[in-house]
Parts: sequence; C-alpha cells; structure tokens
Amino acid sequence: MRQKVTLIPGDGIGPEIIAATVRVLEAAGAEIDWETHIIGAQALEKQGTTIPDEALESIKRNRIALKGPLTTPVGKGFTSVNVALRKALDLYANVRPVRALPNVPCRYPELDLVIIRENTEDLYSGLEHVVVPGVVESLKIITEKASLRISKYAFEYARKNKRRKVTAFHKANIMKLSDGLFLECFYRAASEYPEIQAEDKIIDNACMQLVMKPEQFDVIVMENLYGDIVSDLCAGLIGGLGLAPGANIGEQGAVFEAVHGSAPDIAGQGIANPTAILLSAIMMLRHIEKHDIANNIENALIEVYKEGKVRTKDMGGNSKTAEFANAVIEKLS
Ligand code: ATP
Repeated sequence: MRQKVTLIPGDGIGPEIIAATVRVLEAAGAEIDWETHIIGAQALEKQGTTIPDEALESIKRNRIALKGPLTTPVGKGFTSVNVALRKALDLYANVRPVRALPNVPCRYPELDLVIIRENTEDLYSGLEHVVVPGVVESLKIITEKASLRISKYAFEYARKNKRRKVTAFHKANIMKLSDGLFLECFYRAASEYPEIQAEDKIIDNACMQLVMKPEQFDVIVMENLYGDIVSDLCAGLIGGLGLAPGANIGEQGAVFEAVHGSAPDIAGQGIANPTAILLSAIMMLRHIEKHDIANNIENALIEVYKEGKVRTKDMGGNSKTAEFANAVIEKLS
C-alpha cells in the first residue's frame, strides 16, 4: 500500500543525505508519496516563520515525517526549530538505538542499547531571563506527567522489544526536587513491569560506566538535556555521529531523524555519511509496518559495511554520499 510521508530536507548536509535516502527507499520499492516541506531558517526567510502551518498540517495529516537536521543559531537568533517541532506535535519520546555496524572501527563493536530521551521539557523549555546584568536564570521544568509518561514509554518499549532492563540516569542527589520527581516517577512506572529489571544511576558515574563497561546497559531513560549529551557520547562508542539514528514519537505522529546536526563544516561537498538518516528511515519503515523493505535495506547497508569498499570520509574512506547510496542500492535483493 502506498503511504504519504512528510519530507523535510533540512539545512546543511540535510538535503544531501535526505536525497540519498529517498533514492535508496525508492529503489527498494517503498511505495511512499513524499510531501516535501521546507522548515527552519529558509522558511523564516521566505515565509516569515520557521515552521509554516502547511508543514505542520502535513505532518499531522500523514502522522509520519522523515526529517533532515535543522541548524540552530548558537547564543542568538531564533529558538531551536527541532525543539519547537517536537513540542508542537507533542513528540514526547525520543528513541535512539545505539548499535554498531560491522567492520566500523569503534570501541564497542558488539554494543546494542537504546536511549529513550524525554523530549518536551527540562532545560529545553527555553525559559531564560536576565535577572540583573551579569546574572542569568534558566528554568529547568520537570513535571510528574511528562516523567511518568516517558518512564512508561521506556518500560513499554523494553517489553515490546524483549529487552531485560531499564536504567534511569539522573542527578537526584543534587537536584533533589526536579530529578527526585523524575526518579520517583521512574520507579512508579517500573512497578507495572515486574518482569523488567529497573535500576538508576547518577549521571556522572553513569557516563564513566558507559565509556568503560557499556554492555551492562540495555534501555536507558533520561530527561531531555542528559539524553541529548549521552546520545552523542553513545554515538562515539559505536563509531561516530554518522551512524546514530533516531525517532521522535508521540500520540499525534512520529518524526524520524538522525542524532547528528546539520554539520555545516562539511555541507555542500557531497561527503556526508547518509547512514544515520538511512537507519532512521529504516526505523520509519518498521513503524509503518513495511518490515520486508526495512529488512532489505538494512541487510544491504550491512553488506556495504561488511565489504568495506565504499566508505564515506568519516569512516576513513573517500566515497561521496551519492556513491554510498549507489552501493546500498546495488546490494538490495
Ligand atoms: P547540533 O547542535 O545541531 O546537534 P552540532 O554542531 O553540535 O549540531 P553536528 O552538526 O552533529 O554537531 O556535527 C558534529 C560533527 O560531526 C561535525 O564535525 C560534523 O561534520 C560531524 N558529522 C555530523 N553528522 C555527520 C554525517 N552525517 N557525516 C559525517 N560527519 C558528520
């Protein structure tokens, strides 16, 4: 059955890796009708808003989007469009599987864990103000509702995907009220899933453990900011940001995107690694029950890595984004 999907090419390397991914999905016979919408800085320039209504309506109608990275200006300018989109659609669960690919030089080739990041609150609420010149206050918002909802999501994910353990990372020893509430909600949710082991770790120790003994973790659930930072750390464990996919899931829909940003340092050169966004698209295909096509593309991708002949620059090769996509297409069955 044909499926409508909203396509957001994004900024920087976004259009390059999205084009490569769309080509692979079409070659695999995914039967998707793409509705392309521009959001972010380009939309602001042309339409006076970073998220035009028709883009939001398209995602709401289709309930599925594949999205390239969007640039967020640092220290000034408009607030993050990625964050605004997640909030506008209440995409509260950010799911980021961390799994190595064959033949990729990395510290933990056997690693297989999943990060579940709360996506709607915490220090990402954007509530900042100058108290007096030289003193700034940023508000960290943690609610019972969102903490319970993300904890339940993590346990439900573990149950559905036959995972054995969920670990909460927090700093409740220092932020006794905010992280304390998150932790309390985590254990409340855990009580409904007696077959799944529940444990918690203080975030600083947890980061050391992740670097030294990551195989002890299975599903990890975190507030928004910790989840952002730990996701990049975990991408580093399996060979880099070019390989880490993600999904933002809510009741109203799901937006699939790579963990990495718009990589302005390599944009426009056609050398970005499309693997992370392609893996995100594979997650999307499974979400819309196109399992055979997802498996076919995943197997082809794994074959390309196993063979090791076609590699992008971040993986130590010199293949272009488009050449990498061609190699995956050639391996499709
Ligand atoms: P954001 O704040 O939006 O997450 P960022 O500036 O922190 O973005 P990225 O844009 O993710 O970070 O880039 C971090 C580094 O990783 C850069 O050196 C970039 O070139 C590299 N990188 C990111 N994505 C890819 C990719 N798909 N292929 C190759 N290199 C990448």
